[in-house]
Amino acid sequence: MKKKICILGSTGSIGKSTLEIISKNRNDFEVILLSGNSNFRLLISQAQKFKPKYIYLSNFYLTEKIKYFCIKNKIIIINDLNLLKKIKFDITIAAISGIAGLLPTLNIIKFSKKILIANKESIICGWKFISRELKKYNSDFIPIDSEHFSILKLIENKNRNSIHKIYITASGGPFFNKDINLKKVSINQAISHPVWKMGKKISVDSANLMNKVLEIIEASLLFNLPLNKFSIVIHPQSLVHAIIQYKNGLSFFSYHEPTMKIPIINSLYDNLNNSDLVKEDFFNKNSKEKKLIFFKPDLKKYPAIHILEIAKKNDVNVYLMINVLNEFLVNQFLEKKIFFPDIISKLSLLMRSKQVKNYLKNNKIKHINDVFKTYNFCKRLLN
Ligand code: NDP
Ligand code: MG
Repeated sequence: MKKKICILGSTGSIGKSTLEIISKNRNDFEVILLSGNSNFRLLISQAQKFKPKYIYLSNFYLTEKIKYFCIKNKIIIINDLNLLKKIKFDITIAAISGIAGLLPTLNIIKFSKKILIANKESIICGWKFISRELKKYNSDFIPIDSEHFSILKLIENKNRNSIHKIYITASGGPFFNKDINLKKVSINQAISHPVWKMGKKISVDSANLMNKVLEIIEASLLFNLPLNKFSIVIHPQSLVHAIIQYKNGLSFFSYHEPTMKIPIINSLYDNLNNSDLVKEDFFNKNSKEKKLIFFKPDLKKYPAIHILEIAKKNDVNVYLMINVLNEFLVNQFLEKKIFFPDIISKLSLLMRSKQVKNYLKNNKIKHINDVFKTYNFCKRLLN
């Protein structure tokens, strides 16, 4: 039987990669739900090709844009995932970017047998609530961010207590080893990632290494390991995604071509024996050797790493605030309101400010509404 698929964020980079895989394997998958937020042209062309039963939209403007297309093609538009009825997806891909993905992810769990999650911000902001829902509805959960997927595979059936350290690799972004005045960096320069083709937000996070800070928080929550078990290693080739160093002196790493399609396809299928993603030649064209290169990150060049020290307070409200303030600051950079280095310097200043410290002292995350209370506090801080 074909697996029923739901894609939250189908118009984004992860969503498109997932649909490319599905379009080559139409006998195995049936797309039931697609969703987007601004790119209505792409959403319509995806819907023409995959003929979903539902399109999920939280954006009123977009609803107006695709209303007639959906009526004509008998596609139901839903603005609230809780309104889905009598449906169980075999697989949901949670690939909305930012905290905007939190509620859709939480709401879709009860309708999904298995969730593949790319949306790291929803884990950082609401893991407590997501993990509760996963248990309640007995849903499987696979992180598909390449580092987390690698860690998952590497520590399967291993004793967590035997882990000494987990290294998460970073490409270093577009400014690695470049002598460049970061204050003058344009949006295009910041989002031109040397290896990965990704959405704007994660591309900016990758350029200053904030993406690794977020990934370490995400991994600590997912694998229930303390933040200080993780370190960042710069590996510009992006071939090795994670390295696990065991206390017995052995280390294992996961190596694959830098394409998100590998973690995605290996999560869509339970036991994949074949794929067209295998590179025929281990060496690059006309080359007789291949070296793997790793660098220690320079804290002066990547001050974002200091944010991990603040995160080590181990308070979910601290993680949440780091994530939300970063999202607002990245948006300010993308709107040309601040310079590129201001993202981290402002984040760092705010996280150390009296206002934030007082707020954190008096506010804990108990209910999902507390997440949005913190969100609104952060918004006010930046206005
Ligand atoms: P994109 O920006 O390319 O795509 C984001 C998707 O979310 C789009 O479909 C977008 O719709 C939709 N979206 C944006 N805002 C909202 C909103 N407010 N409500 C509903 N939908 C919304 O991002 P990526 O695909 O690059 O990344 C998605 C997630 O996956 C992120 O959390 C990222 O950190 C993570 N990730 C991505 C990787 C990658 O290679 N791209 C690698 C590892 C993790 P529209 O485009 O129509 O506006
Ligand atoms: Mg990653």
